[in-house]
Amino acid sequence: MISDSHGRTFRNLRVSLTAACNYACTYCVPDGKRLLPARYELSGEQLIRAVTLLIKVAGIDKVRITGGEPLLSPKIDEFFPAVMRLGLKDVSLTTNGQLLARKAAMLLDAGIRRINISLDTLNPNAFREIARSGDLATVLAGIDLMAEAGVRIKINMVPLRSANLDQVLPLLDYCLKRGFELRFIELMKMGHLRAGNQFTRDFIGMDELLGMIATRYTYTRTEAPFDSTAIRFEVPGKGTFGIIANETEPFCATCTRLRLSSNGKLYGCLSNNRSHWLSPVLELLDAEAEAALAQILGQALGDKQPVRFQGEWTVMKFIGG
Ligand code: SAM
Repeated sequence: MISDSHGRTFRNLRVSLTAACNYACTYCVPDGKRLLPARYELSGEQLIRAVTLLIKVAGIDKVRITGGEPLLSPKIDEFFPAVMRLGLKDVSLTTNGQLLARKAAMLLDAGIRRINISLDTLNPNAFREIARSGDLATVLAGIDLMAEAGVRIKINMVPLRSANLDQVLPLLDYCLKRGFELRFIELMKMGHLRAGNQFTRDFIGMDELLGMIATRYTYTRTEAPFDSTAIRFEVPGKGTFGIIANETEPFCATCTRLRLSSNGKLYGCLSNNRSHWLSPVLELLDAEAEAALAQILGQALGDKQPVRFQGEWTVMKFIGG
């Protein structure tokens, strides 16, 4: 297994199925435009070969399917069941939930066990202001459908000072009541947030969040797996929540993530826009492909930041978060 001087390896793969999204969240993209013409994106078949090779050569045992919006891509119908059949330790999906009801049968038939749904507010007006599209009631109905089918649910919320700070406690109440785990994601300085004052204006750190939560709940910090991105907290008798504290407590030193963009590039670090073309490798026969991939993975591992998340110009909608 390839590892670096910090002992880091690649274990978690995030595959962006498409760079297209049906939302244009204010903190994710500066406009609602599709970032890549679909003709430059890998096919479902190529993506499956890529994942199969990465499992073998990099030792990947967890795959998260993301985007853009993964449920928007027709490739999901082929890709999701195929990935579920690869015998991985964990397969998960990150979605904005808008198309969940439409895709529920396929996901459930394929054996989905858990799902992360991005939901920044329970207020319908604020929802449209942040996402610049979509419908809150449709998302909530999709979440209910998955919960009723027994799928484990995590809700991702990005707290933003100017847009949804009043939603921290309502969203936590909503999740604890239903047995979902809420994950607060500290705003990351990605894409257009690298310039201007939007990041500084909207960033809410872990300490402030915990202060707000303490006004309603008592909680204790709990153990999390060594390479977990989230710091986890238990609310005794009620459930758990997590904080992905990129800025407050960076987890770069234990990061095991590798990212594959929908146009066939591997990224070793979210905070480094250096990428490595995988597409040519997919044209090779197995033995040659594996040797070429091993070299690329060594380079990609070298792209990881040593200790601190710096942010990048890469747009989250492109790389998938
Ligand atoms: N469309 C899917 C979704 O909404 O979950 C998957 C892609 S989206 C880019 C993945 C996650 O990245 C979402 O939870 C979103 O809130 C988060 N995200 C996007 N831009 C971010 C930023 N600048 N800082 C922190 N999280 C961000």
